Amino acid sequence: PPLYKQRYQFVKDLVEKYKPKKVADLGCADCRLLWMLKFCRCIEVLAGLDICASVMKEKMHMLSPLPIDYLQPSERSLTVTLHHGSVAHKDPCMLGFDLVTCIELIEHLEESELKKFPEVVFGFMAPSMVVISTPNSEFNPLLPGVTLHRHPDHKFEWTQAQFQSWALETAKCYGYSVEFTGVGHPPTGMESVGFCTQIGVFVRKYPQTGESVQSEEPIEAVYKTVFKAVY
Ligand code: SAM
Repeated sequence: PPLYKQRYQFVKDLVEKYKPKKVADLGCADCRLLWMLKFCRCIEVLAGLDICASVMKEKMHMLSPLPIDYLQPSERSLTVTLHHGSVAHKDPCMLGFDLVTCIELIEHLEESELKKFPEVVFGFMAPSMVVISTPNSEFNPLLPGVTLHRHPDHKFEWTQAQFQSWALETAKCYGYSVEFTGVGHPPTGMESVGFCTQIGVFVRKYPQTGESVQSEEPIEAVYKTVFKAVY
């Protein structure tokens, strides 16, 4: 299957394994991963965030309940919301999630946004688990036609060492552990190149205390809700 499907499947497998109830996808683009996740029966709250409202709106109708959902209502409740905003800004609507996914997002962030990202995701949202995927630049020579970056909008592409040192530093700073994996295997004999897509799975080390949930000053809402469906 194409690489993007392998990334989505990786997240879906993780959801089936750990059964988070509340999942937020940051940089959700056309909501394809959210659409896949709505079939995971453990999920009760799904949220998407993207800085580009038009790409989110393209296929968001796919997240609406179908006639069958009304004719055969299931036991679980499911709320799906889409927000327009940036991962560089905090918004209270992103609190209380069990799993936050950032699939092929960080390489699109400007330096200033990437700097704020750890505090927003790990410090503020502070979910029990965070999944971050990004291209592995060491794999690029194996991809036909790739010169500098795989996509012109990428602000950077990291080697395994660069991603791992950023991830380990971030994890240490916010009390998470991190493990590295990926999708898209290198050819036999070239294992040192690593996966085509590198993935970090971060797990919060300590249960959240009331203090870390409640910040000193209440955080103002800055995201705009562009879609909401209640099943
Ligand atoms: N996660 C999707 C996937 O794997 O198919 C889409 C990845 S796409 C390559 C990156 C997305 O991140 C784009 O939809 C872009 O609009 C979004 N994005 C870029 N900067 C962002 C920011 N600061 N806050 C939120 N989303 C952002």
